[in-house]
Amino acid sequence: MIFVLFGPGGAGKGTIAAKLVEIDPRLWLSRSWTTRAQRPGEPADAYCFVDRATFEEHVRAGEFFEWAEFLGNLYGTPVPRPPEGFDVLLEIDLQGAQQVRSKRPDATLILLLPPNSEIQAERLRSRGDSEDHVAKRLEAGFEEERIGRQIADAVVVNDGLMRAAAEVAGIVDSCRSTARTGSGTAGGTVGGEDQASGALPDDVSEGS
Ligand code: 5GP
Repeated sequence: MIFVLFGPGGAGKGTIAAKLVEIDPRLWLSRSWTTRAQRPGEPADAYCFVDRATFEEHVRAGEFFEWAEFLGNLYGTPVPRPPEGFDVLLEIDLQGAQQVRSKRPDATLILLLPPNSEIQAERLRSRGDSEDHVAKRLEAGFEEERIGRQIADAVVVNDGLMRAAAEVAGIVDSCRSTARTGSGTAGGTVGGEDQASGALPDDVSEGS
């Protein structure tokens, strides 16, 4: 199964994704590629950091499941190859979520939102984003939320790490029970499509 955490910058997607894989032994978090420079203090394995030529070569070789350009940098998910028995978790932007939706309609898209724009801006500043970048991310965030709500199976407000992570974990569990039994047990916010499990197809995105 594929679970996608997407939403505006500063919503806390990375923190929630890290918490989810910590508490769920059957979730495998994909590591994205990016042409963005590593931020000061950012772990070297936060992304696979590459130059644009290398990224574009990977696109041509059809090795991305989805990819997109966001504020001048390229970001992409390699075709997922999770270990046997694991479900895939992607932490990506709206454009990536749209590509996953059209490629794998059975994927579960979870829109993560900040509780308000002050907290969102604070989260962006705390990881070293410039004021200019913070302003651009906030602006992009309005549209990301508006369109995101139209494609999301579930919307979660990140008003606290543990609470929001527990809510997302509940959605994941509900989808798994739906896949197993044909009927979910928890929540009610998740779209009712049967979830396919097993290996991902080896087809690849053309990107955006
Ligand atoms: P940042 O530069 O702040 O790490 O990420 C910028 C945006 O790109 C965030 O919304 C993040 O979720 C998104 N992103 C990270 N990895 C990927 C990816 O592989 N594909 C897509 N489409 N977006 C990504």
